[in-house]
Amino acid sequence: MSKNKQEEILRISENWDSKNLILIKEVFKIFKDKYTETVALKSFCLDIKKGEILAIMGPSGSGKSTLINIIAGLLNPTTGSVYFQDKHNEIKDLTMLSLNDLVIYRRDNVGIIFQEFELFNNLMVFENIEIPLLIKQDKGEADDSEITEQHGNNIKTEPKMSEEKYIPLEKMLTLRGTKYNKLKINSLIEFVGLKKRKVHLVKQLSGGEKQRVAICAAVIKNPPVILADEPTGELDSENAKNIFSLLKTICKRIGTTVIIASHDPLVKKYVDRIINIKDGQVVGSD
Ligand code: ADP
Ligand code: MG
Repeated sequence: MSKNKQEEILRISENWDSKNLILIKEVFKIFKDKYTETVALKSFCLDIKKGEILAIMGPSGSGKSTLINIIAGLLNPTTGSVYFQDKHNEIKDLTMLSLNDLVIYRRDNVGIIFQEFELFNNLMVFENIEIPLLIKQDKGEADDSEITEQHGNNIKTEPKMSEEKYIPLEKMLTLRGTKYNKLKINSLIEFVGLKKRKVHLVKQLSGGEKQRVAICAAVIKNPPVILADEPTGELDSENAKNIFSLLKTICKRIGTTVIIASHDPLVKKYVDRIINIKDGQVVGSD
């Protein structure tokens, strides 16, 4: 990293608003091939607060998916910076991360929901929700012996939660360790109303049910950010309302930041803030 860049990150860190989770600064994304050049994002700036539910709205081709993919660490901007505060409260620029660090960023920070569900059709509902937990495992966090809870001055082992069938969202997502996986998955499945579908193959489900599975899979590892790209694009309005409402309820209860790219006006009722974009630029907010 250049000296200038290091100084810039230092300056951004010193002036970081503690309410912010992500700060997008002057991002350009230009897709180029031999004959064409498309500017998908132009001088794009946005700050995203911790715990807010944000809608990115705009017509088709306005740059919504490009933005979501950049925040997801799946696409690198042509120029500009995407700062984020990591779990150690350190400020990092996504565009400066190595490939390996980007993989870790994605694993620890984001859950993604796509229009086409992107689930494993030939696996069961339960298995689809389990997969992110298996990927998320790392040595420290997966070690069951480390699960403790503070009771006054004594550190006690977590009560035998795995014997309970369901637990509240707030509690479930703070539990760490593979022995809680089943309990967490069951509780989420119950919460989104898919108890009867638990061992069904995903390909047997309706669109609305698939998207509920996708929400569970995105939320199960309790990431700081959930990104949703046209999550209701394949759904009728009744199912769309259910999906927006579920996303809002779950994420408000566990304090997750949510960014929803959508051109569906229904989304407006379920978010804290709306950013309107056109031709790759912010043109207004409500
Ligand atoms: P939205 O999600 O709002 O419909 P996108 O972010 O998908 O918009 O696209 C913004 C612009 O960038 C569009 O003009 C689109 O054609 C172009 N674009 C997106 N991805 C690519 C790509 N991989 N290669 C070339 N052009 C792209
Ligand atoms: Mg799109």
